[in-house]
This record gives sequence, structure tokens and C-alpha cells, in this order.
Amino acid sequence: MIRIRQVPDDVMPGNATAVAQVQTILRAQFPTARPNEAAGIPELLRNPLKKRLRTLLFVAEDADEHVKGFALAMHAPDLNFIYLDYLATQAGRGGQGIGTALYERVREEAAALDAIGIFIESLADNPALCTDGAMVKPNADRLRFYEGFGARPIIGTKYEMPIDPNLENPPYLVFDALGRDGLPDCKRAQAMVRAILERKYGDLCPPSYVDLVVRSFLDDPIRLRPPRYRRREPEPAKAVPRPSTDRIPLVVNDKHDIHHVKDRGYVEAPIRISAILRELEQALPFERLPPRTFAEEHIRAVHAGSFVDYLRRACALVPQGKSIYPYVFPIRNPRRPPKELPLRAGYFCIDTFTPLNANAWLAARRAVDCTLTAAERVLSGARFAYSLVRPPGHHAERRAFGGFCYFNNAAIAAHYFSRYGRVAVLDIDYHHGNGTQDIFWERPDVLTVSIHGHPSFAYPYFSGFADEIGEGAGKGFNLNLPLAENAGPDIYRAALATAAGRIERFAPAFLVLSLGYDTAAGDPTGSWRHRPADFRAIGETVGGLGYPTLVVQEGGYRTRTLGANARAFFGGLWENGSRTPLRVPRRLPRTLMLTPAAAAP
Ligand SMILES: [Zn+2]
Repeated sequence: MIRIRQVPDDVMPGNATAVAQVQTILRAQFPTARPNEAAGIPELLRNPLKKRLRTLLFVAEDADEHVKGFALAMHAPDLNFIYLDYLATQAGRGGQGIGTALYERVREEAAALDAIGIFIESLADNPALCTDGAMVKPNADRLRFYEGFGARPIIGTKYEMPIDPNLENPPYLVFDALGRDGLPDCKRAQAMVRAILERKYGDLCPPSYVDLVVRSFLDDPIRLRPPRYRRREPEPAKAVPRPSTDRIPLVVNDKHDIHHVKDRGYVEAPIRISAILRELEQALPFERLPPRTFAEEHIRAVHAGSFVDYLRRACALVPQGKSIYPYVFPIRNPRRPPKELPLRAGYFCIDTFTPLNANAWLAARRAVDCTLTAAERVLSGARFAYSLVRPPGHHAERRAFGGFCYFNNAAIAAHYFSRYGRVAVLDIDYHHGNGTQDIFWERPDVLTVSIHGHPSFAYPYFSGFADEIGEGAGKGFNLNLPLAENAGPDIYRAALATAAGRIERFAPAFLVLSLGYDTAAGDPTGSWRHRPADFRAIGETVGGLGYPTLVVQEGGYRTRTLGANARAFFGGLWENGSRTPLRVPRRLPRTLMLTPAAAAP
């Protein structure tokens, strides 16, 4: 599995790893490039506008963060064009479509920015210009590649004129109009070419040279060389926003229904998923994705190993169709838990109504895979993704299950994101997300915010108070907004605005939304009265925040209205989110960017 991801900095651990590999590939593939081309990449990312060019670095990497190729491009915000600096793949990997995927991603970015087009320097395939015979074929291959996208050399200018007459093998300036009709006029082309030469090659090109080349762009509009390698003009590439922005990746737990606790009053039932899906898929542009399997280390990064081991062993022990409920709680002697696994359940559990059984483990494990599959799409550039799973997760603490939850899906995803940027988790389930709070209690790189029924009357009763703000390095990075039993939509809206303000001050790179529909009117576990219009307004607020957002399903038990509420929420999220430009993560001083490894509990 290869994913394409934008790398916004060289500071977060997952990003630093990527940048180092990009530098290695660049040095290996472009041995004649100036040494500061590779060495200067971190500086370009840190000071994006130093040369009035915003750096865009995309990598193609596998799930173990091995970079297979990269594209380094510059966006000039004032003139709104993109200049592609490097497109490179690891040696021996050129034929695997990675270069195509990377270039397509640059084009999608250009289309999303509504850029005029992409300029690329590509060495000449003309033997008169390229005197080294051995270079003609690779140069031709490169131009053929770009021609496949409708991008061809600009002709009739002095761009190929070497700065130093002794230099050989000059590049063409290739232009990709992103499939649009019409090419830049002469004035605009001159301004853009001047920007390329001055901002990118200012230290190499004397002003007289720049003037001479710029003034040679006289055609109005510019002219491209006729196609040389493709018999027909290629189908115009669609200048559409990146595919992931016109649909919402949706991952549904395909193993949720094996987890069916038929005990009386166990409202966390399989019908919840079908009730939501039925309404959702016909109303909004979702793209169903199959869940991918992820390593257990993602779970162990936020849950204690002893807890994970216990769940696996205890669940495996229970005969099919049977469940264990915890019934002793060894709180006075936690160092000597009962030897018998069923007896030990209370050692790892916060309540008496969440059972262990064979299918609970399988379903919970799969819910984690689903959530990480959706998270990976957000990391690859999707604006939103939805992990529609059972069992839910936000009550699962570092070393305890409960509240129908076993593994904390949202927290596992938040930790996964935290290698690449700061993360905010917003929990809008009716019940306090005690598990998520517990897991990130001492971490400043993951902000946790929860709006919920006050614990004086609402589950889990022991946490969710306003004075719980985090501890140690995490002090101030947990915000609880407990509301009254009869809080109406106005009070809720005010709390949501407070939550949004806190998240905006934190300026995350990613948002994880723990979504519960149990704030709905008539929910058997809640006391509030949210109707579809309220869910829609909540969706609009979250979409309007402008962050790449992973939505993770938590509670919601009134099956009759689940579908309508889900549809209203996603309608608001999608419509307002599509209108809201993505926020570029604010750059933070290095000292504030604690690595998750250093801050992990
Ligand atoms: Zn809930």
C-alpha cells in the first residue's frame, strides 16, 4: 500500500523521517544538483515565503514510512502558478506508477488552488541542444511522460539559452495548463517566468539574463510545441479538485454484527449501523473503502500492553454465545489481581455492564482497523473521512474497558496522526469521553475537548468535570464542558462555540471528531433534545473549522432517528466544509512541538 501525503514540516517525527529520505533520494537521483538543493529542504519548509514561493512537498510512502518517491513544488501565491522542482522516485522504481501518482497529486493541488498551471523544467530531447547522446533517450522519456498530461515545452522563446555559453544540455520550460482551454497571455507569462528566474535561480541568473529571457516571451498567448510522442492530443486532464475532496471516504466495520449482546437493555446493537447507513449513502457522496489490517502496535501505543493481552486471552476463553461480566473490582489490591481470567475482568473494567466474549475482541480489533484506514485517507489529503464502527471506543481508557467500549478508536487514530502534526479531539457524544481524556491526560500535543452531560447525572459519573484540565506537560490541554440535564440547543451551541475557539487557538493539523448521536431527542441513554436541524448546525460548525477531519462513530441508540440525524449532521459538515478553505497549520516554535515519543504516557 502506497499513500501520497503532503509533508508540511521537518519537525514532527513522521515528517522528519520523510524529509531525510527525500534528501537521500534527491542526492542519489540528481548527483549534479547543487548540494544545497537537498540540504535546503528543511529551511524551505520552515520559511515557506522566504523566496515568495510556498514549498509543497509530497511523498509516496508505504505504511512503514519508507519513502518511494517525492515531488517538490513551489507555489507562487501572488501570481498563482506552480513550479515543479523535482519529481523523483527511488532507483529502480520508476515504472511502478509512483511518478504518475505523485504528478497527479501535484496537479490536484494546483487545481484545488485554482492555479494557472504548472511549469516544469525538463531537459531537451533535441540532439542539437542535448549534445550528450546518451541523455537524449532519458530526456525524451521524461517529456513523453509530461506530454501524457498535455504538458509540452513552450516554444519560440530564449528560455533554453544557457547562462554560460559553455554549458550544455539546457532545459525546456514545459507548461501544463491542467487541461483547461487557453494558455497564459504574453504579459502574464513574462511575469511568471521572471518570478521563476528571480526567485528560484536568483543567485545564478544575472539581471541582464533574466531581462533577456523574459522579453523573449512575445507570443500572445504562449505557444506549446506540437505533440511529439502521442498520436492524438490526450484527453484533457480534468482540472477537478483532488478526488478525495469530492467524496467522503467511509469505512464500515464489516465485522460489527458478530458482536451482538442479546442481554436485556444492551442498547449497543448491530441495527445502529444499518440505520445510519440506509439514510447516509443515498444522501451524500460517500466512497466505501474496505478496512485494511493494521499492526497491533497502534493499539499498544495508547493502551497498556497488560490490558491488550488480557482482553485477547479473556475473550478467547469465553465459549461462543456466552459473556463474562466483571463482578469483583480489586481496587484495594491492584498488585494482586485474581488469577482466574474471568474474575480478573473487574481489574480492567470501569463498570458492570460491558461484557467480554469471543466476538467482542474480533469486532473491537476490526473497528481499530476501520478507523486507521479512514485516518490514512485523511493523512493522504481527504478533507473528511468517516469510520462508522461498533463497538464504540471513547470510554476505553489506557488500561480499562467499559461503556460498551474496548479499544479507543478515536484515541488510536489521534495518536497515529500525532506523528505528523498536532491533533485536536472533539468529543460530542452525550457521555464524557473519559477514555480519551485519560489517554492524553499528560500530553500537550493532543488537545482533548468534550461536551457532555454533567457527570453528576450522566455516565460515567466519575469523570467529565470542568476542573479536569490535564496534568504535567498536558496541563491545560483537556477541556471539559459539562452541561445540565435539560440543556437546550442554545446552551449547546454556546458550548460548541467555546470548544471551537479552544481548538482554533490550539491550531491543530488534524481534527478527530468522536461523534455520538445520543444527544438526540428520545435517546434512551441521554436527556437532551437534539433534532436533525441541531445536528445539521453542529455539522456546519465542525465543517467550518477547516481542518482535515476524521469522524469516528461513538454512541447513539435511538435507532428510529439515527439515520435522519446522521444525514443532517453530514449534510452540514459536507456543505459547509466544502465551502471552507483548508487551514494551513500554523507554524509553531520548535520547543512547542514536543514529539509524541517524548510526551507519551
Ligand atoms: Zn454516549
